[in-house]
Amino acid sequence: MLTEGGNAFEPPKEDIKMKRSIFTALAVAAVLSCTACGSTEVGTAEPPAVTASGTKEQATTTAANDTVSAEPSTEIAQTTTDESIAAVSDTAVTSEALPAGGGEAEPVTTQPQTQAQTRSRDTAPSPGDADYAPAPVQYDIPGITYIQGTLIANKSYSLPADFNPGLDSTCENQFYKLQNDAAQQGLNIWFASGFRSYDYQAQIYNNYVARDGQALADTYSARPGYSEHQSGLAIDVNQIDDSFIGTPEAVWLENHCHEYGFILRYPRGKESITGYQYESWHIRYVGTDLSYAVHDSGLTLEEYFGIDSSYKE
Ligand SMILES: [Zn+2]
Repeated sequence: MLTEGGNAFEPPKEDIKMKRSIFTALAVAAVLSCTACGSTEVGTAEPPAVTASGTKEQATTTAANDTVSAEPSTEIAQTTTDESIAAVSDTAVTSEALPAGGGEAEPVTTQPQTQAQTRSRDTAPSPGDADYAPAPVQYDIPGITYIQGTLIANKSYSLPADFNPGLDSTCENQFYKLQNDAAQQGLNIWFASGFRSYDYQAQIYNNYVARDGQALADTYSARPGYSEHQSGLAIDVNQIDDSFIGTPEAVWLENHCHEYGFILRYPRGKESITGYQYESWHIRYVGTDLSYAVHDSGLTLEEYFGIDSSYKE
């Protein structure tokens, strides 16, 4: 069980946009970690700079150095929301701790409602539906791996050091919807960490290696270039450690995040496949087409695409 540095992090805030000020205050605070997240917020949040070309093409590549073709230009959100993080551990939790449902109600039948429970549906929304969430734009940048149009960032597929997109705007907006709907259920889900740059991840990781050695550091912190947070498509919520497991918020997140285009990226019991410990707080935005498919399959993203997640060196 690795629990780093305590929680220099802020208590839950209603305001999910707590940004630089808090971030800055926490700057030197420390060395905390989030496995896949490989997080720890120190240093500066850099201004995301990349704009990219969106595309609807479905490139299929498996080599980390391949890229994807793109077409229409689409601007990328410039939101930077680095926050402080907490730690990771590998405490097991029994499945009994997770009641099913989490506030489900009747499926949507007509117009989108304001009531959160009416969002729940059994089938993926179609384009044009109010709750349809599109896949993220793709980047025409060498070194990014896409599989069937989905960006892959794991221990096998890294991101370029200069890929610095900031938090994806659609991802961010969908998170707000998720948060609002959860709030209507009386649940408090807050934004803890989003985009993290390569340089920042390097800083974090190197600190861990210096302290614990690489072998141990690799078990709880992502190497620079390998953190999904660098993609701008991953968000950590609430308390980033095992204390989040089994909370009403965690249960709701697991059961409903796909309705907003997210998947729980590192499920329990799939550590050897994803390469990361169970992270009840880490969600990845993929859009509702894929989120429903992955959710319904019961598979991890790696299993769904038939890829692995392991460092090659
Ligand atoms: Zn994370």
